[in-house]
Order: sequence, then C-alpha cells, then structure tokens
Amino acid sequence: MRVLHISDHADPMATPGGEFCGGQNVYVRELARRLAGSGCTVDVVTRWADGRLAREEAIAPGARTVRVPAGPVGPLPRERFGEVLDEFCEGVVELHREAGGYDVVHSHYWYSAAVALRLGDRHPVPLVHTHHSLGAVRRAAIGPGAADQTGEHFAARHRIERRIGLRAAAVVASSPGELTDLQRLFGTPRRTLHLVPPGVDTAVLVPRDRNLARAELGLPADAPVVLFVGRLEARKGWEDLVPAFALVRQAVPAAVLVVVGGEAPGRRTGPGPLAALIENHGLTEGVDLRGPVPHAATARYYSAADVTAVPSHYEPFGLVAVESMACGTPVVATRVGGLRWSVADPRVGVLVPPRNPAALAAALIEVLTSAPAARRQACLDHASSVYGAQRWTDGIRSIYRRVTAPRGGSGGAE
Ligand code: UDP
Repeated sequence: MRVLHISDHADPMATPGGEFCGGQNVYVRELARRLAGSGCTVDVVTRWADGRLAREEAIAPGARTVRVPAGPVGPLPRERFGEVLDEFCEGVVELHREAGGYDVVHSHYWYSAAVALRLGDRHPVPLVHTHHSLGAVRRAAIGPGAADQTGEHFAARHRIERRIGLRAAAVVASSPGELTDLQRLFGTPRRTLHLVPPGVDTAVLVPRDRNLARAELGLPADAPVVLFVGRLEARKGWEDLVPAFALVRQAVPAAVLVVVGGEAPGRRTGPGPLAALIENHGLTEGVDLRGPVPHAATARYYSAADVTAVPSHYEPFGLVAVESMACGTPVVATRVGGLRWSVADPRVGVLVPPRNPAALAAALIEVLTSAPAARRQACLDHASSVYGAQRWTDGIRSIYRRVTAPRGGSGGAE
C-alpha cells in the first residue's frame, strides 16, 4: 500500500523542543516508520524549512521525507503558512504525479487538510485526516489574542476543519474528548471517526535505571526532581510552573526543576522570558535549563525524574504525559484536552485546574512526598496497555484497509 502523509509545517526529521517543532513532528515520523515496518511504502511531504537539509531524506527503509519549496527556504511561523499554501499545494500535486499516485492520502493539521481537499478534487484518492489541534477548542482555552486567532484566519481554519470531516473517508481522533468535539463542532459523521490514541516509541521510551540516568545527566542522586518537557509556547503553562515551583521549594527545599526544550542557557545574549521569570522568583539555583534535546535522549530525563509536570492551558493530546508514563514516571497535568483522559487514573498522576500555580504546586508536593516510585508499575502498565505503538499502527492500518476496500469488500490495497 502506498501512502502519502501531508505534514505542512512539521518536518518529521526536525529536532523537537524548539519554537515550531513538537508533537506533530514526533507523531508523523514514528507513524511513518512503523507503517513502513508493516509493509506500507510511505512518503511524508512537508514544507522545505531548512536549507541545510536535502530535498529528500530517508526516515526508515520504505519511508522518506520529501521537502517541497514554498516561499523562501527557511523557517516560517505556523500562522503564516497560508501565504505559501498555494505553492505548497502545487508541489504536493506534482509529487503525487511523479509518484504515480498513492492508495491513501493522510493529512495532518488543517493546512494539510486544505491541501488534501484540493488533491482529492483532482484525483479520486481516499483521504484520512488527523487534526492534531482544533481552532475552536484552542481559542476557547487560550483566548482570541494570539496571532493565529484573528477573525479571518480563524474562520478559514474552522471552515477547512469542518470540510475535511465531511469529505474524508476517515478522521482519526486521538482521545475520546476530541471525538466528541469533532461531532459537536463540525458534525463529523460518527462512521467517519476512529479513536486511535498515538503510541509511544517503545524502542526509545523505555525506563532506565534512575540512578544511572541521573549520573549520566549530571543530576543530584537524591534530590526530588520535577521535569518539564516541551516547547516554550505560552499555552504550555510554563508561566504557571515557575511560581508553582517556587511554592514547591518552600515545602521541599532540595527539589530541582529540569526544563527540556525551549530556551537553552548561553544561546542568546540576555536571559529569555523563562530565564527572566526564574530569576524574578529567585529560583536560579533550583532550575536546570537544558534546551531542546533529541527525542531519543528524552527517556533518560523521564527516567531520572520523580514527576513530570504538564501544566498546559490547551493540550490536544499531550505526548509528553504518556512518554513519561512509558518510562515509569508519574505526571501532574492540567485537566484539559487529551490529558483529562490520559492522566485520569489517580495511580499514574494527578489532574489540576489550568492556570492555577497553587493547585499545581500542591499536586507536585503531594506526588514528591508520597513515594513517587510506588506509582511506577501503574505508569508502565497504563502506557503499554493504552499507548502501545503496535496498537496504534494496527489501528491506522485497519483504517487504511477499510478506506481502500472496494465497496462491499472486506480488505483494501496491501
Ligand atoms: N520533545 C523532544 N525534545 C525536546 C522537547 C520535546 O523530543 O527537547 C518532544 C517530546 O518528547 C514530545 C514532543 O516533543 O514527543 C512534544 O509533544 P506534545 O504532544 O507534548 O506537545 P506539542 O509540541 O505537540 O504541543
């Protein structure tokens, strides 16, 4: 089966943790790799955003990234992708022609949905879509102020999100909450919706010995460690985490906060907004900023930590929470989006209201002072039973089989 993934802004081979690169990049790369391992031939088309990278790059045997120029080759804020959408679309249509067509086109995020819809108008190919984020849910959570929440941009996004739900042969929802949102907001037909939670790469995200991980990372052997992993976008809630951590230090003075992703010390001339906030709270000693780290290195951090904090205001799915569990480390997360579901079991973590540093601090203290290691097995069990990569790949493959099956038939292209 030949599959084209359209991942407009999220290059599967880019290092996550910077401003523009996060969960979607990880999701698409891992899915492409696993689908290729299960016998599909996979192309991932993305905008060429880094001139140091080649036009084509192998992801794994049977899977490659193809970078299409759209606008100048270089970074482009996600909310400005519309400016290059037509050019990107032409590049995707050309790739489709060059490749002699695909059996399935799987789009990611709303710009890619717009491209898939145009491709689908020209070629009768089954479309599958994963939203990764929904405009209306995001706006309700973070307010209308952000650059991508302006009237025209928001309206265009809402229209495409609705259209892809009505036109696609299948839409993948990552959590039960997203599934309900899709029915409520867009009337996406239930028969089109498939709940397939993302899996974590269990070759990479495996628990390691805690003491060894700490020694390798240069972290103190016996300090209670709180971990944050992610981009430093405002909606990730790091502005709540810093004051919360100041409260944690009052109760647990030896605690250390390790931040992976975002600002790295020494990479800019003055302190960035996170470092400035840390300084304002007098926390310079207790906070360790590591900057973006390659995805494969994150397991060491999760294994070294006593608890992972996910204080987001909005989190469509929240890969970090399940990655932490896959390494045996409990999670304190806000009660938003996919986290409401992934961290619902009190044995794997604690849910708190968003934008509430006091509640966040209380939950972190609770986990740190109540033998966090005792939650380890529950975390491992939860991650492997719900977020196993095999279950994820099988779920997506069965969708592809279904949408390529001749009407009335039981199986599709292989
Ligand atoms: N990540 C990483 N290195 C970093 C920071 C983040 O590999 O320095 C990865 C992290 O492991 C996770 C992804 O980036 O797989 C973030 O995904 P999540 O769904 O939590 O957030 P998003 O970026 O989609 O908002």
